[in-house]
Amino acid sequence: MTTYSVSPTGLPRGSAIPVGNTERPKLWADVPDDKWDDWRWQLSNRLNSVEDLAKVINLTQDEIDGLNAPDKFRVDITPYFASLMDPDDPECPVRLQIVPRSRELEGFDELMEDSLAEDEHSPVAGLVHRYPDRVLMLVTTQCASYCRYCTRSRIVGDAGAMFNKRDHDAQIEYLKHTPQVRDVLLSGGDPLTLPPKILEDLLRRLRDIPHIEVIRIGSRVPVFMPQRVTPVLVALLRQFHPLWMNIHINHPKEITPELARACAMLADAGIPIGNQSVLLAGVNDHPDTMMKLCTDLVKIRVKPYYLYQADLVEGSGHFRTSVAAGIEIIESLRGHTSGYAVPTYCVDLPGGGGKVPVAPNYLLSQSTDRLVFRNFEGYISTYTEPQDYVRPKRTKFVPDRRHEKGQRGVAGLLAGEQMAIKPASWDVLHERETSKSVNRAIGSLQNHKDVEVTNGHGKPIWTQVN
Ligand SMILES: *Cc1c(COP(=O)(O)O)cnc(C)c1O
Ligand code: SF4
Repeated sequence: MTTYSVSPTGLPRGSAIPVGNTERPKLWADVPDDKWDDWRWQLSNRLNSVEDLAKVINLTQDEIDGLNAPDKFRVDITPYFASLMDPDDPECPVRLQIVPRSRELEGFDELMEDSLAEDEHSPVAGLVHRYPDRVLMLVTTQCASYCRYCTRSRIVGDAGAMFNKRDHDAQIEYLKHTPQVRDVLLSGGDPLTLPPKILEDLLRRLRDIPHIEVIRIGSRVPVFMPQRVTPVLVALLRQFHPLWMNIHINHPKEITPELARACAMLADAGIPIGNQSVLLAGVNDHPDTMMKLCTDLVKIRVKPYYLYQADLVEGSGHFRTSVAAGIEIIESLRGHTSGYAVPTYCVDLPGGGGKVPVAPNYLLSQSTDRLVFRNFEGYISTYTEPQDYVRPKRTKFVPDRRHEKGQRGVAGLLAGEQMAIKPASWDVLHERETSKSVNRAIGSLQNHKDVEVTNGHGKPIWTQVN
């Protein structure tokens, strides 16, 4: 094991560089450091079969069945990430995320292939335009390793179904002609697995579109393969500021010296880093695990951004927790630790409703004068409303609003722009045949007294008394 006082990555002295490396399993003890630290070696030595994995962990029958299942979601694990697995603990939170089990093959009643209806919201292949001013741009189907609960397992991992140059061109063309988009989120698959030339070309073309203000990259590469975060990659990325990055860590075990160094390099290059976790049964569904994860993330300058409720995705039923488990986690974080360490817990609504934040209730009651709150300790207190407050009619600082018609939603109701929002079927429902016939009955009975309309069983459903 090598220890560095200055990392081999070329970080300036003075950066908070964690020293040391994760201990390697015996299998790779003789691999020279320059190979191990090379992401190309990590990619080409990934594990994906019973034979491979048996050399690193003591496989259970359940895992062997999962690995041998035909038509399963792709398995591939970098040696670095595999070295974080506990060889003797089948419930190891790292192992659960990447080694398939037979339960993966079980369906559940609510499952959907494309639970977030991303395909329906795609104007061109791979571009999901669901929110007013930002888009999700899927640029590749490849990842450094594959998470068993992946929301996009319907498209991810398929080596024969890549996004190609023509798809990228169509995505860029759509964005050029869609001025309301100010924020583009590159995802996939994992954008950092793209050949650097293609990645750089995509970033440059996005930067050349004047109305695109912010570019974000969603990547699990720093977690699966921190070796990929080289000075050259960081230099490539920092040309395209403002550039943000979201990584994906679920358990404190994934925070290693290698990952911490990768994050330090990205943060030193001015790239703000957020983390998205998925709430996974057996992996991170205990409040103490989440507390450790979130406070450790802040230590390496990563802001816990979102905690997602598991989506209704094929193969991931055994990872689902109750929503209550997520609320309890937020309850145990908010107030108990730095606000920086508290992610927003979200349910991504099936059918394409998007992310909806869920949190414990802190507002207990209200009158026109006073609000009653409780805090994280259960202390209950009041806030007195001002009696002379008038909401602003206009502001000098008009944001450069780019919304399309009909997208003001509930904020539009509050602003008095609209009185109601109704489902498309609402008008049809209220013209229902039965009410028409009842109306006819009322019309023809206008001149009678004490009329009763019954539901056929002699029970009155409507009575008119003149
Ligand atoms: C999550 C997501 C975004 C980004 O949402 P933020 O709340 O801005 O992080 C954009 N588009 C799609 C389709 C998404 O799922
Ligand atoms: S890294 Fe992201 S896209 Fe890739 S398998 Fe994991 S969850 Fe899916």
